[in-house]
Amino acid sequence: MGKLLFFGLLALMVYLLLRKGRGAQRTAEPPKAPEDMVRCARCGVHLPRSESILSGGEFYCCEQHRAEGKS
Ligand SMILES: [Zn+2]
Repeated sequence: MGKLLFFGLLALMVYLLLRKGRGAQRTAEPPKAPEDMVRCARCGVHLPRSESILSGGEFYCCEQHRAEGKS
């Protein structure tokens, strides 16, 4: 019975240590950076950089506004 209690406590300690380690790892993770937002040089709408069209150093929301250029 004593042995069983010992192994039970050991298992509990290992479980708690593993849980603690995982928790620390999770908090150590850097927060996901929000995607850069850019402004359409034509209409001024804000959109993620990856969805914008870059032309001549300016961002545009769509091909039409890129063709029309800066207002
Ligand atoms: Zn636009």
